[in-house]
Amino acid sequence: MPSEFSLIDKYFRPLASGFAPARELRDDAGYIVVPDGMELVVTKDLIVSGVHFIGDEPAHLIAQKALRVNLSDLAAKGATPYAYSLGLAMPTFDERWIADFARGLGEDQKRFGIRLMGGDTTQSKHDLVISITAYGFIPKGSQVLRSGAKSGDVIFVTGTIGDAGLGLKILRSPDLHGEGIKFLIDRYHLPQPRMDLIAALKQANAVNAVIDVSDGLLADLRHICVASGVGSVINLPQIPLSQAAKAFINQTGVRLADILAMGDDYEILFTADPKSMDKIASVAREFHFPAHKIGSIVPGEDIALLDKHQNALAIEKYGYEH
Ligand code: ADP
Ligand code: MG
Repeated sequence: MPSEFSLIDKYFRPLASGFAPARELRDDAGYIVVPDGMELVVTKDLIVSGVHFIGDEPAHLIAQKALRVNLSDLAAKGATPYAYSLGLAMPTFDERWIADFARGLGEDQKRFGIRLMGGDTTQSKHDLVISITAYGFIPKGSQVLRSGAKSGDVIFVTGTIGDAGLGLKILRSPDLHGEGIKFLIDRYHLPQPRMDLIAALKQANAVNAVIDVSDGLLADLRHICVASGVGSVINLPQIPLSQAAKAFINQTGVRLADILAMGDDYEILFTADPKSMDKIASVAREFHFPAHKIGSIVPGEDIALLDKHQNALAIEKYGYEH
């Protein structure tokens, strides 16, 4: 079995090579200089086999998921990705697996403009645990928090909702068949963080509160409502669904309300003043992914889910809870 150090040399050092903050992974720590006028945004997301991924996925996909769930948090905060550190606890040191894992990271580093700047590697008794801390920059004083939603705001969500949750359902019940199965599974394996949208909306002064949707749309909306001291109304017919999700729902009769509690979407949910609608439409067009209006912020503290007849549906579940 190769040693921890030879694996770091061979597979992780190249991912940090030439990046000054990483000191070629030859020091005890990394060093970030925050550019003038900028603020450092720090986020961590940890993923565990059997909880956040199944475990038998190709290693490069596991690596990319671990990185992208963090990129999604940076995206939600409108931060430009800069660097990340990688904590890895592995039940075995399998060199081929690590090579593929590092390849996945290398590809996404290029794709998202982020660099490895350190980490820690250890053996684990059972599960594979990947803990990434990501660092990004925002212009100083430009934070957009969960707590900024105001009564009267419009609620938007990017992309489509429920694909990944349905993908996981399919992986868990291999007897399920239908159109778009591969698309849904891919959406579970590989989140598409919606980079740059929030940064652009911040610049246009067109966003009040934001969160990335990871635990379930309703659960994450509830985080915004609680933090902001407001309630909300969601119109089910306005929830954006992919063709594949629609076909799957028709075929299996999954309740639409349950789709909103499935999680793993890694889309962005935000609220904005209705006056900003035009700006939002033009920014979303520029980034080639839609931002859909799905409801509004209201006084109070409740979340109401309305069907096409404006009847309120019972919410049985808000999202994934650990
Ligand atoms: P220490 O004993 O100071 O914790 P380590 O021996 O764990 O240092 O790590 C040596 C170097 O390798 C450090 O620069 C550390 O950041 C880097 N490193 C260790 N594991 C990883 C990893 N999984 N990814 C990136 N860098 C790593
Ligand atoms: Mg260490």
